[in-house]
Amino acid sequence: MQRRHFFTLTGTLALAGCGGGSDGTDAPITPTPTPSPAPAPSPTPSPTPTPTPAPAPSSQAVLVIGAGMAGLAAARRLRDAGREVVVLEARQRLGGRLFTSTQWADAPLDVGATWIHGDGPGNPISDLARRAGARLAQTSFGRDQAFEADGRRLDAAGAAQLDSLRASIRKAISDYQRSESDTTLRDAVYRGLGYSERSALEQQRIDYLINTTYEHEYSGDASQLSALWFDSDSRYEGVESLFLDGYRVLIDFLAKDLDVRLGHVVQSVRHNEQGVTVQTSQGSFFGAAVVVTLPLGVLQSGQVSFDPPLPARKAQAIDKLGMGVLNKCFLRFPTAFWDTKTDWLNYIPSAEHNGQWAEWVSLARPTGQPILLGFNAAAVGQAMEAWSDQDIVASAMRTLRTMFGAGIPDPVSWQISRWASDPFARGAYSFNKLGSAPGMREDLAAAVGRSLYFAGEATDPRYFQSVHGAYLSGQRAAAEVLAR
Ligand SMILES: Cc1cc2nc3c(=O)[nH]c(=O)nc-3n(C[C@H](O)[C@H](O)[C@H](O)COP(=O)(O)OP(=O)(O)OC[C@H]3O[C@@H](n4cnc5c(N)ncnc54)[C@H](O)[C@@H]3O)c2cc1C
Repeated sequence: MQRRHFFTLTGTLALAGCGGGSDGTDAPITPTPTPSPAPAPSPTPSPTPTPTPAPAPSSQAVLVIGAGMAGLAAARRLRDAGREVVVLEARQRLGGRLFTSTQWADAPLDVGATWIHGDGPGNPISDLARRAGARLAQTSFGRDQAFEADGRRLDAAGAAQLDSLRASIRKAISDYQRSESDTTLRDAVYRGLGYSERSALEQQRIDYLINTTYEHEYSGDASQLSALWFDSDSRYEGVESLFLDGYRVLIDFLAKDLDVRLGHVVQSVRHNEQGVTVQTSQGSFFGAAVVVTLPLGVLQSGQVSFDPPLPARKAQAIDKLGMGVLNKCFLRFPTAFWDTKTDWLNYIPSAEHNGQWAEWVSLARPTGQPILLGFNAAAVGQAMEAWSDQDIVASAMRTLRTMFGAGIPDPVSWQISRWASDPFARGAYSFNKLGSAPGMREDLAAAVGRSLYFAGEATDPRYFQSVHGAYLSGQRAAAEVLAR
């Protein structure tokens, strides 16, 4: 049972009546100041300054590759245990796939992860957020509105049909998951629902549900997700919380006083029982051990070489697991033209535009700013990365004008992510692809000898794809190093 699956039924029940907060996630919202004029649009993140060069570490040091959540969690734990730690990070900033853009000074935006999924007891990120004094606000899948392809609000009959199709899709998947052989999620759903026999309207709605419920959640294309294993992860119970000052609050909290070398692009890792040599764009580093937190997409690209080469099982896991796409487009308007009590605006696109702009989040309620966030995932998200900013915004505005009328204003500014084209991410997060199997994430996580350790969201068998999974994997790898 996944976070989005869990909420969808209650969400749809609220569709016709709009915005009941029916999952009980109403929470106090801390207002933020009124917007000042926005700067010129630019998709490029503002960099963190490079620190002054630091001395070479001793041969006893533990090296950590990557200053995302996994790397910082590992480094923090090792450092707190008294170990000498040096973090090597390719970018000129911390956080990796946690990136709070400050391009709009009055509205910090999380361009990577936004939410603590399942903010509640047991979630280590909830605990970290409280220790860091982070200001949080909750959004709710129950505060939603849905729109037909022609822009009309989905009526009660439409909402009922959507609920019924959603239940059928879930049943088709769970029926399929009793079989021995695997297929793609799309194939399992299409076969289970007799898709080709359905009316054009039903097909449109089935495709919308596949896109928003599964592709947006898992980032993999439904034609690539493994029907048997795509949802083999676990979740924490709790609300969906976002950071009013951005996820960077946690990154800064974890990174405090750590020795992080920014702008160090790792090129190769040589390892044996005596230690490791890590070659970077700014010279070699020697250490007793290394924790590699490179994203799965970076490992797949082969841009970092290992000597001796990685064991066959690990190489197979790298090859067979999938790296998916989820992109964000933030549009800032002069004023809000939508119902600002709503958190989620759902759009059922026509067959021609299947997968485009089907989910929007209003940041108006949690942040007080007239900002909409549109998502595109999987194959559509990947294809859009080749478009210009202007074309992406024009496409988004065509959809919003269908939903809200021709008279709505143009955005005054925008920010757009392209995670698949990012050479230090090469995708949004990992997914279980057709051809992958249970156990591959453990293979990805397994240490090699006494000096080579692995962490990162993709290595966590229970909570892959998430910030908490990345954090737990970093802690696990640090514990392995300490126990060596
Ligand atoms: C758009 C989007 C939305 C998301 N939404 C959520 C959400 O709401 N909630 C949630 O829980 N999760 C979400 N996630 C997933 C979450 O962001 C990730 O699971 C998590 O941040 C991954 O952390 P990590 O440390 O494993 O990897 P990363 O953060 O990618 O860290 C790896 C680090 O390695 C560095 N690196 C790469 N190559 C090299 C190299 N050659 N040399 C040196 N350093 C290198 C990178 O720059 C990076 O800093 C989202 C992700 C995306 C992209």
